[in-house]
Amino acid sequence: MTKRRTPPLQMEFFDSHCHFDFEVFESTRDKLWRDCTAAGITRLLIPGVAPAQWPAMREIVVRYPGLLCAVGLHPWWIDKVAGIGKFPETEKGHGIENAPGIGKGPVTERDPGIEKGPGMGQGTGIEKDSRVKKAGDAEKVPAIDTASGAGIADVIACQIAAALAEGGGVAVGECGLDRHIETPLALQQIVFEVQVRLACEHRLPLVVHVRGTHQEVLAILRRHRPKRGGVIHGFSGSPELALQYWSLGFCIGVGGTITYARAAKTRRAVAQLPAAALLLETDAPDMPLHGFQGQPNTPLRLPLIARTLAQLRDQPLADIARLTTDNGCRLFDL
Ligand SMILES: [Zn+2]
Repeated sequence: MTKRRTPPLQMEFFDSHCHFDFEVFESTRDKLWRDCTAAGITRLLIPGVAPAQWPAMREIVVRYPGLLCAVGLHPWWIDKVAGIGKFPETEKGHGIENAPGIGKGPVTERDPGIEKGPGMGQGTGIEKDSRVKKAGDAEKVPAIDTASGAGIADVIACQIAAALAEGGGVAVGECGLDRHIETPLALQQIVFEVQVRLACEHRLPLVVHVRGTHQEVLAILRRHRPKRGGVIHGFSGSPELALQYWSLGFCIGVGGTITYARAAKTRRAVAQLPAAALLLETDAPDMPLHGFQGQPNTPLRLPLIARTLAQLRDQPLADIARLTTDNGCRLFDL
């Protein structure tokens, strides 16, 4: 009788939200992705944050097998793109050379007491990419009223549609609403809603940023009912809230928040949700895990989040890896 040996199956993980294109990873990116794949992190989605960042993001996605990207306008970059607020317009529709680094964003809601570590303020890398504006863009893109931001919906709709037509985007986002920034919520809602509409038109899922705005986000999602759903990234909230999103076809992005014992509500939510609703994410370089506060986060810590999730759900780690990877592949149609 021959004994058949099956090689041990390596677990595979999918980081469904990582700003792998940000400058903080610039010098180590090649090695970091090699280390990720060696650790079983074989897929990673980079969210779009602003039009000037998309081209370089897509170049990175093409360079490393297993990487994917979404195309969208993050609420923190609206002021810059609209040329309003404290950031003067420098280039119509693309004036984000001095876009705020991620470390300048507010710290709230995601988790009681999770602090952004240093290293998150080191720039996003998009400063370099403002050169990507192509000749002729100005003619295609409508104007923005730089006093009020009026017209930004048309501008961003044109830009996202053009970027999607060029191919490569598997989702629309990162988009959403953030109560803890200066950009008026009404303007954020306009920009979010246009992206929800685009996702519906293009039959793509959404990558959604929510901070202190669950009810407003739910209202917009209920109004449009995007068929392909999406993911509520970096979810922080109660089991009831998570289920409301899931009932609308939105997965829950499970990140470093759950590694903090005091994030009791969120831990309960991810323990109780149907397995099909769960995606894993690091949001690196943001959202440091417990024990790593003060350091930039890295996609290499995804298995630690998976391990915490496995403990909270009392499921084997291998099942969590397989389920969340399958869920990501299903959501993004891979
Ligand atoms: Zn993000």
